[in-house]
Amino acid sequence: MINLEIPKKFRPLVSQANQVATEVFRPISRKYDVAEHEYPKELDMLASLIDGMNEGSDSGAGAAGVRREEGDGDGKNRNGSNLSTVLGVIELCWGDVGLLLSMPRQGLGNSAIASVATDEQLERYGGKWAAMAITEPEAGSDSASIRTTAELDGDEYVLNGEKIYVTSGERADLVVVWASLDRSKGRAAIKSFIVERSNPGMKLDRLEHKLGIRASDTAAFILEDCRVPKEALLGSPEIDVKQGFGGAMQTFDNTRPLVAAMAIGVARASLDETRMRLAEAGVKIDYSTPALSQHAAAARFLEMEADYEAARLLTLHAAWMADNGRPNSLQASMAKAKAGRMCVDVSLGCVELCGSLGYGENELLEKWARDAKILDIFEGTQQIQLLIVARQLLGKTSAELK
Ligand SMILES: Cc1cc2nc3c(=O)[nH]c(=O)nc-3n(C[C@H](O)[C@H](O)[C@H](O)COP(=O)(O)OP(=O)(O)OC[C@H]3O[C@@H](n4cnc5c(N)ncnc54)[C@H](O)[C@@H]3O)c2cc1C
Repeated sequence: MINLEIPKKFRPLVSQANQVATEVFRPISRKYDVAEHEYPKELDMLASLIDGMNEGSDSGAGAAGVRREEGDGDGKNRNGSNLSTVLGVIELCWGDVGLLLSMPRQGLGNSAIASVATDEQLERYGGKWAAMAITEPEAGSDSASIRTTAELDGDEYVLNGEKIYVTSGERADLVVVWASLDRSKGRAAIKSFIVERSNPGMKLDRLEHKLGIRASDTAAFILEDCRVPKEALLGSPEIDVKQGFGGAMQTFDNTRPLVAAMAIGVARASLDETRMRLAEAGVKIDYSTPALSQHAAAARFLEMEADYEAARLLTLHAAWMADNGRPNSLQASMAKAKAGRMCVDVSLGCVELCGSLGYGENELLEKWARDAKILDIFEGTQQIQLLIVARQLLGKTSAELK
């Protein structure tokens, strides 16, 4: 086992996030798993508290993402802000990942805004809760094939299309919607637009019922002549065919390590609970003896813990690279692929090791095993992350390796 020390400057944040996970999330975890679609009102006060924490420091405790610094010429992030956000997310998801995803103002749309918005947009939309709407009925993994369009009409863009599986779509104040300025120009024409949830052109169609993360609302929308001001376009309106999808994809470099961090948190929750149950059953886990000469349950536990540690290292590495202004697309995808798969394997492995205790609803192990799967799906599935990694390592384009 690797014992990486948390840097001193992040310790208060990690300890506060752990306290929130223990005292706020865990006690209401089952309640909102059962009461799907009910808003966890306990989070309102907590969200204000986290806003306060974020204001007082350089660090984020939730999934709000990080801002690339303007003016220093190299697009560098505030050093440490990705890493601190990842550390905070790990702790909070050790508490409950569905509740973290329901936290006001900590949506994936907030990450997109924080990453690429202009100062004016930040001022206009800062402090609001933003969801992210990329997926459509005919476009999931292949986000370049989205059909939603945005047409310029005077000082406004007019959006038309359909968006499905929008996390926090019902509760957020804003939705960052991906749409094409010109479908004949391919992926380079895809831009993101900030749409107010109150916009009458964006109609909530339905909320989904799900296997896991049931505390988090997942919405489907119809966009019908949805008008937004010209200034709602995030980034540049230029269609740069040479740059391709690069601009829009940049936000994934920030958000994929965050989803990996969620997976690390859920896996650690399962491992911690299982370690305790094994100890109660008299199974000793010994770090100084080879796994193969220990109790079979201890050996299995050590194997899962090693998998967890590998995913954790990759995730911290991807965040550290972003903090230090190094391109991290490869590492972000590696972390997401490894952590998503590890979380599913480990949480189910823990259910297995704990037997009926793991399967019953008196404990949270069965819930964590259900919650885990989405972390291997959204922000790019396991298979898509592996495809991205393969393309980068082999130097192939998306047209060459599909
Ligand atoms: C609970 C939940 C919340 C979500 N939240 C959001 C959100 O907030 N915003 C948003 O925009 N989207 C969201 N999504 C959508 C999510 O990002 C998509 O489900 C995901 O991208 C996969 O798309 P798909 O479901 O259409 O599957 P498909 O793309 O149809 O894929 C089906 C299967 O085929 C595999 N596959 C596809 N292409 C390839 C390939 N080239 N090579 C190998 N295998 C491949 C996939 O890995 C997958 O296993 C959410 C989904 C869920 C379930």
